[in-house]
Amino acid sequence: MRYDAIVVGAGISGLLSALCLSKEGKSVLVLEKSDFVGGNARSYNVDGYTVDTGPHAITCIPNGPLARLLNKYNGGMPKLVPHGHYYFRTGKGLHPVPSAIKDWAGFKAISNMDKIVFSRLILAEMIRESVSIDNSERSVYDAVKDYNVSDNAFRMIDTLCHFMSGKSMKKTPAKRMFSGFGLEGMKKMNIVDTLYGLKRFFISHSNSKNQWYPIGGLGAIVNSITDAFSEDLVTVKTGTSVDKIIIKNGKAVGVESEGEVYNSDIVVYSGFIKDLDKVVTEKLPEHFSKDLKKIKQAKSYTLWLGINGKIPGMDYKGSEIWYETGEPFWAMPTSNLDASLAPAGHQLITFSFIVKDSVEKTRKEGWDTILSVYPGIDKKIVMKHEQVTIPEKAAITTDSFFPGPVSPFSGLYLVGTDVDKRSMGMTRAAHSVEDMLVAMKKEGLFKN
Ligand SMILES: Cc1cc2nc3c(=O)[nH]c(=O)nc-3n(C[C@H](O)[C@H](O)[C@H](O)COP(=O)(O)OP(=O)(O)OC[C@H]3O[C@@H](n4cnc5c(N)ncnc54)[C@H](O)[C@@H]3O)c2cc1C
Repeated sequence: MRYDAIVVGAGISGLLSALCLSKEGKSVLVLEKSDFVGGNARSYNVDGYTVDTGPHAITCIPNGPLARLLNKYNGGMPKLVPHGHYYFRTGKGLHPVPSAIKDWAGFKAISNMDKIVFSRLILAEMIRESVSIDNSERSVYDAVKDYNVSDNAFRMIDTLCHFMSGKSMKKTPAKRMFSGFGLEGMKKMNIVDTLYGLKRFFISHSNSKNQWYPIGGLGAIVNSITDAFSEDLVTVKTGTSVDKIIIKNGKAVGVESEGEVYNSDIVVYSGFIKDLDKVVTEKLPEHFSKDLKKIKQAKSYTLWLGINGKIPGMDYKGSEIWYETGEPFWAMPTSNLDASLAPAGHQLITFSFIVKDSVEKTRKEGWDTILSVYPGIDKKIVMKHEQVTIPEKAAITTDSFFPGPVSPFSGLYLVGTDVDKRSMGMTRAAHSVEDMLVAMKKEGLFKN
């Protein structure tokens, strides 16, 4: 069979690619190895609860690349609600994550001495950024190590790094942690915007206003894409693993799955780019293969709990990070954002952990940590569901490699979270698709 384009993988980046290409008039075949579409952006039913593939707070959705593409290509967006605030939880309770200088004073998760040290550190990093010192290889650990930060604050930063980049503070780029403090980009601003930026930073900046959650669960986003497929242009085959991307004389000509060949001059690959050399039938350039080896991934263990009633202290909208003892976690009471995700009178909560050694160790120590933070929670649990996933196909590390959408072979394009390092997960995947379309347009593959 011949198609105008073949998309390998039906996660958010593959499905979005298929939608955009089909709306540009191309016939598209999507091949997905698992029995369902959505990849890491899926929702499904467990005993009457709608669980997602891990907790999700999606960045800059209403004006980000996902919304831009869906609006342009008739996908439409599901209804979104603000994710709410981020909190640190400590033995003393919940502490909203400070996002403007004025919030620091009331922030009780760290000592006053740590606050003073942190302020010096943040200011120094901002100045570094504004005088354009090359920070790309500098880790958060490099930035923090010479300051007299307490063990508690150190652990807090390390935990944040794990959840922001997938790796420890020694591997997380300093830029990734310190560029969110509101003064970023001020070099290029006019005086009015600069004053506005300063006001945001010192008085009213909020780190939670740009994070969203779709009503109906994460799968609502996938549905808004697949509902917009026109049947005569998009064919989706699940349970079909692509074994080979066929390259002839440096050009993609199709793919092979279990001995069956599908022909096309355009192949969009959304599988693990770190494994690309195992899939393509011609040798990748040596420098590219070498760069692929720099890609590192993190693994996560997520526990979903259905609760009879509500957990005291989990009555907020947003999510919390625990870092003081045991296994650090990121937790979110998702049914507080959309009550329909849990049966009436019940709460749906998700706890996500980074797997540092083995899943078994994380499962055991994670559970012990949950019990110590929420004593008695075990008596209220009526549903328990586990997921082990790789949240992003490439962790953001100091020496990572993100190739962009154009591969070394003509006609083979790359999309997904290991292609682009801007933003987080879903938004990062959408950025990669947007850039792929720009590259295709430049190569004359379509006009709009
Ligand atoms: C626990 C957890 C928490 C997260 N939290 C957030 C968050 O808060 N905010 C956020 O924006 N993002 C978050 N994410 C990340 C986000 O879900 C993913 O980054 C995004 O869904 C990835 O999309 P993708 O298309 O790049 O990759 P994937 O979803 O991995 O899709 C790739 C697809 O390709 C298929 N495939 C691979 N190889 C082949 C092959 N050879 N043949 C056929 N099919 C193949 C796979 O089966 C898969 O379906 C989280 C993820 C997890 C797991």
